[in-house]
Amino acid sequence: MRTYRISTLLICVLIAAMAALPAAAAGNRDLGREVLQPLDGWASQGAGTTGGSAAAPEQVYLVTNRQELIAALNNGVYPPPSTTPSSVPKIIYVQGTISANVDDNNQPLVCQDYYRDGYTLEAFLAAYDPAVWGRTAPTGPLEAARITSRNAQQARVRIRVGSNTTLVGLGKNARIVGAWLDLRGSSSAQRTNIIIRNITFQDTHDCFPAWSPTDGALGAWNAEYDAISLRETNHVWVDHCTFQDVATADDQQPSYFGVLYQVHDGHLDITNASDLVTVSWNRFLDHDKVMLIGSSDGATADRNKLRVTLHHNLFEGVGQRMPRVRFGQVHIYNNYYKIINNPIYAYSWGVGIESAIYAENNYFKTDQKTSPEQFIAVYKGTMIHASGTRVNGTASGGFTDVVGAYNAANDPDLVEVGWTPTLFSRIHDAQRAISAVESGAGPFQW
Ligand code: CA
Ligand code: CA
Repeated sequence: MRTYRISTLLICVLIAAMAALPAAAAGNRDLGREVLQPLDGWASQGAGTTGGSAAAPEQVYLVTNRQELIAALNNGVYPPPSTTPSSVPKIIYVQGTISANVDDNNQPLVCQDYYRDGYTLEAFLAAYDPAVWGRTAPTGPLEAARITSRNAQQARVRIRVGSNTTLVGLGKNARIVGAWLDLRGSSSAQRTNIIIRNITFQDTHDCFPAWSPTDGALGAWNAEYDAISLRETNHVWVDHCTFQDVATADDQQPSYFGVLYQVHDGHLDITNASDLVTVSWNRFLDHDKVMLIGSSDGATADRNKLRVTLHHNLFEGVGQRMPRVRFGQVHIYNNYYKIINNPIYAYSWGVGIESAIYAENNYFKTDQKTSPEQFIAVYKGTMIHASGTRVNGTASGGFTDVVGAYNAANDPDLVEVGWTPTLFSRIHDAQRAISAVESGAGPFQW
């Protein structure tokens, strides 16, 4: 199977797509050639973020399945010659639904297809039930078989993304299902300059979560794979995407050993000295852990990095980490937090060690079960700025002092951060921002 280089084929598809739509809706926009605008968040710092927008004609791809996507990321070659994807400027248009859990004939693979060395879920549960095994970490052949099985799935779902890449959905129905987009450089050679837009990411899931019997009072199932993860990566723009679980949603999952069989990790995790990221106009839906910025209290290489801007994102039906921050200066403005009838809601802004969140003009819509002091959770952090926050409309025109509410309910009090954002062009009143987010976040509705 070959990946289509662009060519008359894509041009025909684009012309056909645009011809079928009202001119006003489609315009003449080619997302592949667009770049992050100046002053649009931390990713606009310095040379800004251009992704693969300057790609030569032979580095423009239209992909419709996993194999074509991976080939496009590797200079047209599948299987890739190495684990280092191409850094040549490239534009990749995603058309339709790409599933990561497939074989090389694009036939679907289910969890059982990855079972190796005698692993079965039933055998695993029987062997490591705390009532049988005790509350110590699993060891032995079945645990080893779990890891081998996990690696078999990981070899399918892990999709490495190189520098100078633009990955955009074509039309409004581009989906990537079950994948882990792995943006990972090294401390000596970070990945850089990556744009991901107009794609719905669904059901990234780990068929083989680890059992951690001493994680929390009851133990916990810990899954790997984020929909997108950034490690040692800078200048990234994630825009107009949707992140959600459908087939694998937590409320569809069983409990084992008395706790949820959690098959998800993060939606979009930014860790390991990553830096200069703008996350705009996305929908984060129906998921527990949304966005981890900084993965460890001891990761002092993250100091002065992990600078991220979040604006015009919708958070709905999600549990925690919107985001949770360590070390980074994170600007959070004009986002919409919808917390209605949400039994998994824990908190929105996680104040971790040496973190410096600067939150402005965000909107919270909540039911009576959630009060403003719950919007913040503190994990060894000491400071946050929050102003212009509106909660449930506040018809009087008043703002809600979220930090004041937190401080009134908790000690020690949080104090002001020592920085002021500069990389933005316009910040609206929260009341005005929500209608824009409701209608505009997620893939473009062309
Ligand atoms: Ca993660
Ligand atoms: Ca207090």
